[in-house]
Amino acid sequence: MQSPFLSLTLLNAHSLKFLTKVNQKNRGRMKNLIAGNWKLKGSQNLADSYLNHLSENKPVNCTLLVCPTFDLLEYISEKWSQDFGFLGAQDCYHDDSAFNEGLASADKVARTGAGYIILGHSDRRHKCQETSGLVRKKVNLAWKHGLLPIVCVGEKSEERKSNLTQEVVKKQIIESIDFDHLDGSFVIAYEPVWAIGSGNIPTMEEIGIVHDEIRTLLITKIGSHQGKNIPILYGGSADSNNAEQILAVNNVNGLLIGGASLDIKGFGTIINKA
Ligand code: PEP
Repeated sequence: MQSPFLSLTLLNAHSLKFLTKVNQKNRGRMKNLIAGNWKLKGSQNLADSYLNHLSENKPVNCTLLVCPTFDLLEYISEKWSQDFGFLGAQDCYHDDSAFNEGLASADKVARTGAGYIILGHSDRRHKCQETSGLVRKKVNLAWKHGLLPIVCVGEKSEERKSNLTQEVVKKQIIESIDFDHLDGSFVIAYEPVWAIGSGNIPTMEEIGIVHDEIRTLLITKIGSHQGKNIPILYGGSADSNNAEQILAVNNVNGLLIGGASLDIKGFGTIINKA
């Protein structure tokens, strides 16, 4: 098995900076990764308010990641400073050789200066019927183009009620990441589907159980040293009121935040608390 940290030549400058931070964390506590996923919302005004806020309040204690829509990614990247953190994209097409109309390829994403890409989000898995096999193709393409994939996993409400949460999450991870041919590093985001945008979140104990299970799985798959250093984010109705509590849970290494990232004031509070 290849180490996720061996393929550094494939990673672009943003990713390399991130991996350096990850490696630094090996000597201390892992810095939280706070990721804002604007989904199809956001505007140039929001981008400007982020840029103004961040130029006065550079994230110190956490690593910031902002994932706008593709058009805004190009807009914001022109004014982005590496001191702010990283930019990322939402999804890409699973085949960069084909002649496909209107879809962003991993190559195009990487050219914007983005370092990360969110893949397997529940909107894609459930509203667009994307399978873990498809997510795996995208993960491989992300690595090919030097992007760090954030692989989203999470159970639906009925799966939770049937006590299938851990089974579903583990299956999604195993099938979405080609552990036998790792060609880069990755981040996992645990996002219960029923928690996204609903205002409901699991208890801290429930979050802890799933994150511990994910950590154990990663260690089994890629060994203790690397498995312990893959960030595992929680996502689903995280906001400035609950962020601190969630971040205190064992094996929670950051947050993936949708709705609450659309207001830089509240999001700035989360960055300060992380
Ligand atoms: C998301 O869409 O990834 C998400 C976590 O959304 P929200 O924070 O709004 O629940």
